[in-house]
Amino acid sequence: MDDIDPRRLIPRTNDLLALPAVREARTRLSERVVNDLVRQFQEQARRGELGPGQVQPALLAAVAERKATTLRPVLNATGVIVHTNLGRAPLSAAAVEALVTASGYVDVELDLADGSRSRRGAGTRAALLAACPAAEDALVVNNGAAALVLATTALAAGREVVVSRGELVEIGAGFRLTDLMESTGARLREVGTTNRTHLHDYAGALGPDTGCVLKVHPSNFRVDGFTSAVSLQELSPLAAANGIPLVADLGSGLLAPDPYLPQEPDVATALASGADVVIASGDKLLGGPQAGLLLGRKEVITRLARHPLARAVRADKLALAALEATVAGEPPPVVQALHADAGQLRRRTERLAQELGVPVVAHDGRVGGGGAPGFPLPGWALRLPEGLARLLRTGDPAVLPRVHDGSCLIDLRCVPPTDDDRILDAVRQALASLEVAGAGRAG
Ligand SMILES: *Cc1c(COP(=O)(O)O)cnc(C)c1O
Repeated sequence: MDDIDPRRLIPRTNDLLALPAVREARTRLSERVVNDLVRQFQEQARRGELGPGQVQPALLAAVAERKATTLRPVLNATGVIVHTNLGRAPLSAAAVEALVTASGYVDVELDLADGSRSRRGAGTRAALLAACPAAEDALVVNNGAAALVLATTALAAGREVVVSRGELVEIGAGFRLTDLMESTGARLREVGTTNRTHLHDYAGALGPDTGCVLKVHPSNFRVDGFTSAVSLQELSPLAAANGIPLVADLGSGLLAPDPYLPQEPDVATALASGADVVIASGDKLLGGPQAGLLLGRKEVITRLARHPLARAVRADKLALAALEATVAGEPPPVVQALHADAGQLRRRTERLAQELGVPVVAHDGRVGGGGAPGFPLPGWALRLPEGLARLLRTGDPAVLPRVHDGSCLIDLRCVPPTDDDRILDAVRQALASLEVAGAGRAG
């Protein structure tokens, strides 16, 4: 008797597609995604990586898990509040509700009373101006980098942007503000030195070719020692006397001072100090969606809004909705994590430590996202074996701990208290897998 080629036993496409769970998957996934999953397991069986009898169970497991988005929620146990790799700011409940509302047809650019076209994002602009009365006008674009490109293009293309050498920063992953600004056709006119810049350096650089003066908050590093910089207050009379707009890129996006972060600049203070336009991100300390905020003098904001580039960097309706709700709604998670009560953090951490029988150690959280560098937010962490980190990241729910000094640390600052028990379960599961693995190696 000839052996039957096992490949002939691989289930047929039509039979697999007819399985009830696969038919159900086709109501929530595209036909192509489902077909690709079917083909993937059949091919694995053809290559001998799966037995023919394993194709159906593997497919059923895969369709049950497969969602239309491959993004997975992560519990942030790092203590880093604005975590760029985790998408920066988690949104408030109010912002999430606004996102859902905005996901359908909405009056983002329509006056329902008379049926005519209206100013895009008028509600968001009004919310920003109410929260920051020092600003005469506001414009929202895609992100902070886009805001900076728009400002330098509209004010200084073909001309000079005067900026201190101490403020020419790289904002992450190789993106340099210098390259960004030069891409607009503006020329950088660098003044001063890396550690010291004086008012007379600016005064000597201003002339008929100056498009704007730019102050950049070097948010992700600090220069200590023999340093000096020129404040907005000192610069503003000089810029005004020369009729040159003064732009301040703050990065982080506090609208008003926060006593928890005394070193962090804010929009209201920068405007009161004489900046004509202030730039900030929506998804750093403001705690909202990705967005770039431009706030300041009406005449300058209008100039930016009318520039053709404004259309290329305009904010999406989802971001406009979430931003308005972030400003008008309850304090967003970023602010709650920043202001977390130390005693409560300790009690939460100790409860989990007791349940798990692991030690609690002092641990500083961070603002992150290039904000308040080196500024510690005192708190606590569970200390676990380093080998747990990978298991926690790949578990369900996924938990991102901090790996430091040979330990895996769980900081609850950025974990909503209602998720404490999910952390507990995740750590228990990971500890159990670690024991199994350890026993396997020992035996
Ligand atoms: C973060 C940052 C930017 C870029 O803002 P994005 O919203 O990330 O585009 C620009 N300037 C400064 C000073 C920053 O800190």
